[in-house]
Amino acid sequence: MTTSTPQLGDEIPVWKLMGVEELQPEVRKGPTSPGPHEAIVAPQWNGLCGSDMHIYLTALLGEEKMKEPFVLGHEASGIVVQLGSAVKDLKVGDRVAIEPGEGCGRCGDCKKGAYNHCDDMKFAAADGRDGTLQGLYKLPADLCYKLPESISLEEGALMEPLAVAVNAITNIAKLPHSANVVVFGAGPVGLLTMAVAKALGARRIIAVDVQKERLDFAREYVATDVHVASPTKEGETREEYSQRHAGIIRESLEITDRGIEALDVVIDCSAAEVCMQTGLWLLRRKGTYVQVGCGPLYVKLPMRIIADRELVVKGCFRYGPGIYPMAIDLVSRGLIDLKPLITHKFAWEDAVKAFETTKAAKGEDGKMAIKVMIGPPPRLRE
Ligand SMILES: [Zn+2]
Ligand SMILES: [Zn+2]
Repeated sequence: MTTSTPQLGDEIPVWKLMGVEELQPEVRKGPTSPGPHEAIVAPQWNGLCGSDMHIYLTALLGEEKMKEPFVLGHEASGIVVQLGSAVKDLKVGDRVAIEPGEGCGRCGDCKKGAYNHCDDMKFAAADGRDGTLQGLYKLPADLCYKLPESISLEEGALMEPLAVAVNAITNIAKLPHSANVVVFGAGPVGLLTMAVAKALGARRIIAVDVQKERLDFAREYVATDVHVASPTKEGETREEYSQRHAGIIRESLEITDRGIEALDVVIDCSAAEVCMQTGLWLLRRKGTYVQVGCGPLYVKLPMRIIADRELVVKGCFRYGPGIYPMAIDLVSRGLIDLKPLITHKFAWEDAVKAFETTKAAKGEDGKMAIKVMIGPPPRLRE
């Protein structure tokens, strides 16, 4: 088996999701004839994330059961195979990071630069649309971002989750200079969020999680401080716990209400109600809370604290203009190291093992899984 780039007109391999935990390899005709502003790319590495896992384990797309089998994958790098006649700033053979969402470019949201809110968004592996776990993939050329030599194709695939983190820290949190930041949840997006905060000059980066192993990793990676979530007391409500827990965190990490040791930004990547509550109790006056983790529809929040302290509470959904270039730049300047996050790599043929490793959050090697990657598809025909 070789892993060179498939050619146009080839039959291409794809991994199809048939139903709950059922992936099937298939061979089909690849895309041809890109439109003037399109590119055909041979995806190389695919990263797996929580949203892939959710679909894999439930076969649910949002609230609805998937109707047809489709191809997963939205965190991908690739090599340009063919370009439309009007594409000027790419060439065949370029190594690129793939931005997986295509806005319509015409609606009000797209026109004001908020294409992540486009009502007509076409996103890889969402809404039953085929994703990037295939031999060739056609997309608008402006969604292909050339990778500098210093960035590998594996790292290139991680620009997608990194873009979420860059958006959360820059556009949404508007990270102040020398900020103290707390991140709840030390999974891949939490870790990337901490990495961006560090790259952009945060003073203190505090990671909170229930798993000590994840926090050990976070400390080794970028966190300046870690806190293993304290256990609940018997009979304690979530609200009582959260307020008490915030007190424990303040005391153990010497966080103050005001001054240099006060907390400026809380980013929740855990989607757990108690973390959201604890985070709000921790913030300084006029501090900013950002919800990145996608969890329950309704939660109880200390609204009077939000009002009295004039806290800013914001949502964060994917990423918008300028975020991919910034993510690539931060990595190429050595301000963010993505390599430690890639804990497990699988050959294309072993995609099922990659999903199982992500599900178990541990590899057969016993090592904790952070980012699990699937390698390039084989070339089927010369
Ligand atoms: Zn993802
Ligand atoms: Zn639009």
